[in-house]
Amino acid sequence: MEKVIIVGTGCAGLTAAIYAGRASFEPLVLEGREPGGQLSTTTLVENFPGFVDGIDGPMLIMNMKSQAQRFGARFQYSTVTAFEPKQDYVSLQLDGAEWIDTRTLIISSGASARWLGLPRERAFVGHGLTSCATCDGAFYRNVPVAVVGGGDSACEEASFLTRFASKVYLIHRRDKLRASKIVAERALANPKVEPVWNSAITEYLADEQNEMRAINLRDLVTGAVRELEVKCVFVAIGHTPNTAPFRGKLDMDEEGYLLQKNGTHTNISGVFAAGDVADRTYRQAITASGQGCAAALDAERYLVNFE
Ligand code: NAP
Repeated sequence: MEKVIIVGTGCAGLTAAIYAGRASFEPLVLEGREPGGQLSTTTLVENFPGFVDGIDGPMLIMNMKSQAQRFGARFQYSTVTAFEPKQDYVSLQLDGAEWIDTRTLIISSGASARWLGLPRERAFVGHGLTSCATCDGAFYRNVPVAVVGGGDSACEEASFLTRFASKVYLIHRRDKLRASKIVAERALANPKVEPVWNSAITEYLADEQNEMRAINLRDLVTGAVRELEVKCVFVAIGHTPNTAPFRGKLDMDEEGYLLQKNGTHTNISGVFAAGDVADRTYRQAITASGQGCAAALDAERYLVNFE
């Protein structure tokens, strides 16, 4: 029986591992399909406190992992495929095979950004393609950029990016935004934001350094395709929380984000949620870390009371 299992190795999971390790629980940390979480796909992180000149996303993650290992956290490459709550513990199935039991579980499996599914898309991530304006917007000063999507995220990102970019194309597949009125109006009122209605990106075009140079855009009404020069595309078409194995067992909202109560507790005793898997609002590295810390403290209290 494990005392603490942590699912996920983004900022939330790794911070939980540091705290649970320092509390001498020797947590078992499961690294799933996206080790390191979303930070491992970004470049410079300039808004994580304590790094005056910023720090590389993958480096920040590696540092956190080493720090957790220093305190006795154990890491294993496994994906949770099923979850069974029992009387005083929970069982997890790993990779569709073995089952493992744990007294407490911290779920910090994150949320995966949705992408457009275009050819060579993965190769462009970090090279002019991103899903996070807060993280990467400041790198694109005085150049044209594009945001894809028509929801609150897309509109907020478009407004935010006007601080840096010379022009922000807001590319939406329909002629009406899904975003709330106030957020949509703010974006459209900004003279730097140019909506591109009824349009879809069909191809990313690279320069000689394999950085984003332009996109091909299809007009979904006329079918016409044109090239549009942009240095970065911010995809804001939503996130999918990684909660599939917990569906039907843990309380979630309609989109699958875990619901927390009383700190990081879920509806099942001994099971805690931290980071983007339970956060559709802030979704920052530092807020995820904060929740990871809180979940480890909640798990520690639970274990002390249990014993
Ligand atoms: P969202 O509301 O689900 O919007 C996703 C947008 O992406 C939609 O406009 C959708 O188009 C478009 N889209 C989806 N798949 C696409 C595809 N394959 N190709 C092109 N476009 C695609 O997602 P979100 O904006 O991230 O917001 C998620 C939740 O967080 C919402 O409840 C939102 O209100 C909330 N949120 C709130 C705030 C705030 O209150 N300040 C800020 C951010 C997010 P269609 O419209 O045609 O479906």
